[in-house]
Amino acid sequence: MNNDLRFFNYFLFTQYSISTFEKCPLKFKKRYLEGIKWKSVISEEIKRRSDIGRNFHLMARRYFLGIDTGLTSGIEGYEELSKWLEALKSHFPKTDDALYLPEYKLRMAKGTLRLEANFDLVVIKNDGIEIWDWKTQGKSKSNKPWDDKQKGERLKGSLQTMVYLFVLKEQAQRVVQREIECSDIRMFYWHPDPARILAEINYSDEIHEQFGQALKSKIDGILQYDYESFDKELYKKNCLYCEFNWFCNNERVDFQAVEEDEDFLEELDWDSIEELR
Ligand code: SF4
Repeated sequence: MNNDLRFFNYFLFTQYSISTFEKCPLKFKKRYLEGIKWKSVISEEIKRRSDIGRNFHLMARRYFLGIDTGLTSGIEGYEELSKWLEALKSHFPKTDDALYLPEYKLRMAKGTLRLEANFDLVVIKNDGIEIWDWKTQGKSKSNKPWDDKQKGERLKGSLQTMVYLFVLKEQAQRVVQREIECSDIRMFYWHPDPARILAEINYSDEIHEQFGQALKSKIDGILQYDYESFDKELYKKNCLYCEFNWFCNNERVDFQAVEEDEDFLEELDWDSIEELR
């Protein structure tokens, strides 16, 4: 237990790490406690998509910072990126009465609630704070209204929504130097192609209370988990997509299935892949 990172104060939980634990505690251990990640198994297609998605996030950051986006014709995914950036600029014309904080990181610690949120964009307005998250993964071919509705509902109840809204409310006063009510906070998921809001969440005291309790219970569950009791059979359905499939089962990741699975790609921790390069 002495060397178990879970118990170190500097170990912060993110939506990715909590979700990984829920998929498989061993995967969480390997990825977050032992620092082993996707490097050796990632496919070219996932790498290509991750590069385009990451470049969009980088260019969006530059746009909100007011500097050159760096979009050049030789870049991987140029056509997609220019279309997405145009959509971003027309959907988010910057105004002088708002403060834009792109790629903004917030951390908090309250007992076992040690959390980190990495926001794509936080917008401070006179009447409140908005969180924006860019969803660039997945195939935009299946943009049927019912798909969006399902996706929106899933996003509203996602761990990302819980972590982002909870952390922002807890730290809002530090960000804006004034009291912020839950009702002053909203979160949006935005897809650039075609440009649309996938989900909008209006925060409230009641939701904040629920999120706090749910996150605490999840984190306490991770802290109390006894790895001696790990039973691989319980998590078998996740092995196919897991980078440790070779280690655990002597089987390779099914990349074709991975690349077809929008939910999987949406939940993939792209930043962790980047760290390995
Ligand atoms: S391969 Fe299966 S059992 Fe092994 S870490 Fe991944 S999900 Fe868990």
